[in-house]
Amino acid sequence: MTRAHVEQHEPWLVEAIDGRLDARDERRAALADCEVCAPLLADMEALRDGLDDAGRLERDVLAEVSGARESDAARRGAAQARAAIAQLAAPPPSARSRRWLVPLAIAATLALAAYWITTHWRAGEPAPAPSVSRPQLGGEGVLRALTVTRGADGALELAWEAVDDAASYDVELFADESATGAPLFVSNGLAEPRCAVPSDQVARLPARVTVRVQPWDVNPRRLSPLRASFQQP
Ligand SMILES: [Zn+2]
Repeated sequence: MTRAHVEQHEPWLVEAIDGRLDARDERRAALADCEVCAPLLADMEALRDGLDDAGRLERDVLAEVSGARESDAARRGAAQARAAIAQLAAPPPSARSRRWLVPLAIAATLALAAYWITTHWRAGEPAPAPSVSRPQLGGEGVLRALTVTRGADGALELAWEAVDDAASYDVELFADESATGAPLFVSNGLAEPRCAVPSDQVARLPARVTVRVQPWDVNPRRLSPLRASFQQP
């Protein structure tokens, strides 16, 4: 015998979709008897089962090939699915009627389907490549492969290893190794990983110099600054 939908069913439906009502629970029996809730519950449970299978498959495959990395896309899909299901428990305050169930159920279904497709698709993908070492925001790194040469006119030419993602460099020279004092020389917006210090500026530098390089990406966003010290050649 099919019963009419009542508002009381709505929180029960959320619990049932969440797997918190077991088969013998009388609230679950009431939902299965309701013309509105029964088909929704059946659809959502079928999707949830598919989701569980896909999740298991993904975990197995990824554990085998890549040490069980979780994909960002799958995490986003799961978060969307959870958010959509959570909305079932929080209907709009006004115009409360069973009509709200329809768009929310569709949203939840789409989010779950997207999650299922994402995880299923991920399972067939090759393992993610190990991430390339990139400069991190914050902290100060070591300026690599610094070379310092003196030109015939007494100018100093500094060159260093190009930084991943760097579109330009700012350079400062310091007398102290901690590079906290006032810079003795500044050159900004260098497109290449090198810097010329004119001879009249070189005259102001001590024998041992610390160079700090601030790389910028194309946005421009500040990348991790790099530092090294050198003895004037
Ligand atoms: Zn109902």
